[in-house]
Formats: sequence, C-alpha cells, structure tokens
Amino acid sequence: MNRLWIRLSLVFGAVIVITSIVIALTSNLLPQTEAFRGIMRDEINAPGGLMENLRAYYREHGSWTDITTFWEQRPESFWIGPDAKLTVSVLDADGSVLTGKSVGDIVPASRLDNMLPIVVDGVLRGYVQIERVTLQPPDSLNAVLMQRLSHTLLNITLIVAGISLLAGIVMSRSLTAPISRLAAAARAIGSRKQYQQVQIEGSKEVRDLAQAFNEMSRDLEQAERLRRNLVADVAHELRTPLTVLQGNLQAILDDVYPLSKVEINRLYEQTRLLGRLVNDLHELSQAEASQLKLNRQPFNLAELTADQVELFGSLAEQEGIKLTADLPAQPLTVKADAARLAQVLGNLISNALAHTPSGGSVEVSLSSETDRAVLTVQDSGEGIPNAHLPYIFERFYRVDSSRSRRTGGAGLGLAIARAFVEAHGGTISATSDGIAGKGSAFTIKLPL
Ligand code: ADP
Repeated sequence: MNRLWIRLSLVFGAVIVITSIVIALTSNLLPQTEAFRGIMRDEINAPGGLMENLRAYYREHGSWTDITTFWEQRPESFWIGPDAKLTVSVLDADGSVLTGKSVGDIVPASRLDNMLPIVVDGVLRGYVQIERVTLQPPDSLNAVLMQRLSHTLLNITLIVAGISLLAGIVMSRSLTAPISRLAAAARAIGSRKQYQQVQIEGSKEVRDLAQAFNEMSRDLEQAERLRRNLVADVAHELRTPLTVLQGNLQAILDDVYPLSKVEINRLYEQTRLLGRLVNDLHELSQAEASQLKLNRQPFNLAELTADQVELFGSLAEQEGIKLTADLPAQPLTVKADAARLAQVLGNLISNALAHTPSGGSVEVSLSSETDRAVLTVQDSGEGIPNAHLPYIFERFYRVDSSRSRRTGGAGLGLAIARAFVEAHGGTISATSDGIAGKGSAFTIKLPL
C-alpha cells in the first residue's frame, strides 16, 4: 500500500472516478449544446440510422404519405436527450412540415439550408430538422432515453477508466523502476563496496537523482581509494625507520655494533623521525576532518612574516642563500591562528631553502589585494616540473623521493600547509616553470 506505484495508480483511479461523476452530472446539459447537435446529425446520417430508414421508406412508398404513422411507431427517433431538449421532424422537399406538432407549417427556404437533406436516388425529397423545444416528452419515453444515454455513458466511462488505469499502472511502474534500481545500487555500495554507476533514464527529476548518485558513487570510490593509499603510505613510511631501528638493535644485541652513544644517537634519530611522522599525520587528519581547534586572534601578519624570516636567517646564511623579506610599511591585520600560520610559513621557507642551492636566493613578500593578504615565498632553486605541480599538495607526494630523503620530509608538509590555510578560509598555490635557477613560488591568500 505504501509503494509509490500503487499510490500513483490509486490517484489515477480517483481522478477517473471524479471525472466520471462530473461527466454524469454535466450530461444533463449536454443535449443543449451545439456540439451535441453535430453528434446527432452524424448519428442520423450513420449507416442503419434514421436517414437510411427515411430513404427506404420513400423508395418503398414513392411519397411521404402516411409518414406520420411510420413516425409515431418509432417515437425514440425524434426525442433526443434525457430531457428531450431537442426534437427531430421530417419536412418534404418544399419545406412543408410532415411530422411533429407543427405539421403543415411551411418553413422558409432560407432555413432549409441548415437542415439535413434527404436525397433518394439523386433527387432531393425532403429534409430532417433538428429543433430545440420546450415541450416535455411523455414520462415513459423520457425514462427510455435516459437509460439509453446513461448506458452509453457508463460503457464509455468503464472503457476509459480501464485504459487509464492500465496506462497509470504502466506509467507509474516505469517511473518507479529507475528509483528501485538506484536503491539497489546504493545498497551495493553500502554492503559490498561496489561503486556502481546507474543508467541515467526516466523523468528529469529521476535523471537528476541518478546523476547525483553517480557523482556520489565516483566521489566515494575516489575517497575509498585515497583511504587505501593512505593506509599503504603510512605503513610504508613507518616501516623504513622501524626496519632501521630493528636492524641496528639486532646488530647491537648480536655484538655486531658496539653499544656506544653514537649508535644510540642514530637510533634516537629514527624514533624522532617516527614521532614527527605520527604528529604530522595526526594534525593532517584533524585539519582534513575540520576538527582543528583554531585559536583565532587578530594580529599583524607583517610582523609574523618578519619573525619567521629572521628565524631562518642563520640557516640561510649557513647554506649560503640570500633570504630577504619585502613587507608593507603599514600593518596587515588578519584574524587567524598565529602559531599555525607561523608553522605553514616556516614550512614554505624551509622547503625553499632545502630546494635552493648555495648562492641562490629566497624572497618572502607580503602585500594586500582588495580583501585578502597575499603572502609569497619565491626561491631561485631547482623548480618543480610541470608534471608534478598538480600533486605536490597531496599527502606523501614527493617530486623525487630519493632526494627529499635528504630533507627528511615524508611529503606531508605541503598537505598540512594546505589543510591549515583552507581551515582559515584561504588558498595556497604553487607556480613554477620547472627550469632550474628560476625556482618556484608558493602563494598563500588569506581573508583580511
Ligand atoms: P617534504 O616533506 O618532502 O618536503 P612537502 O609536502 O613539503 O614534502 O613537499 C612535497 C614535495 O614538493 C617535495 O618533496 C618537493 O619535491 C616539492 N617541493 C616543495 N617545495 C619546493 C620548492 N620550494 N622547490 C622545489 N620543490 C619543492
């Protein structure tokens, strides 16, 4: 009972019943309409109808003599409609009325044009006239007519109702079939992780639904793939330091390596690496799940930038890289988590220093657009090849895994930076033409 196709069919059924009632109610008025006269005319002219009978009568008798007797034997031929608002009478070729209550009257020639001519063997012999009357037919006759009309009406209604109901069932079944298929596909995703695409068919709404479903299915599949990759990546990243730790510890136990401070220091470095990795992952997962607690306070971004640049000053000097800052004279106030932004900026500067050879330069600049602060870290290092540029913000992505080992990164730094900046409602992007010496530029835009 609660199924859509049954409900729709019931609605169709209700509409049909209501329509039938309305038809039955209005049928009383029907005979008065011009359209009904047209129908009557067709009925009179139909094979086996009144016209044919009149022609046969004329052929047999050679004239209209005694037509009244013939006429009175078949009263139902001249009263029409439940209330008999119309009557039919026969006129001869000259327009003289032969039947009905005004026998003998001559109808003017101009009115004959509107009547049905009785043509027998090519010769005009008379007319059939359909008239509106106020006269009531006898009661018994009225009942006969009423019955005749309501029978026809009932038959038509039943046939139409049957067809409509059938059409309704077929239509509502075809409407609900794609929805059922969608439900099956959704269940397949839920229980068996089968990311299906459904066929886009049916009405516009159902097609929209199917399209949205397909997009969702694709996104889920993508997310599932990312999740699997993430687990694989994490396992891979953890395995390397763990293997080193286990190997070295085993070697110490087997007296291959001495239990010296140098050895312990190497092992400690590996545990620090592991600790950093776990921390990074934790922060990244929080930021991506939008659970990061941001301590938003208004502060001067120019000051924070100057601090970070100063912080990396000595490192840059050691590496022989010129680190400069181009800051606006007036303060640029943003409402953000200063510690997180310092972390992001620090990450970009340290990346820039790590990927720029000695003698190169790194410039940090800050400016403002209409409603945003624009922070850029531009280096003159090795640059990022175009093929890699779209992926560098993804987790664990490294342009060259062997080289970035030197920098100690796991490929999470930029992913964390992006998550932090986006948590602030900002954007981060990278540009580089991949030419060594021209370097790359990372730009952060933050709402002011
Ligand atoms: P990592 O921890 O390896 O540095 P990141 O997420 O910070 O990971 O960076 C991802 C990759 O993007 C790096 O491995 C490096 O190849 C590339 N990259 C980042 N910054 C720069 C830069 N300034 N110049 C050239 N390549 C860079």
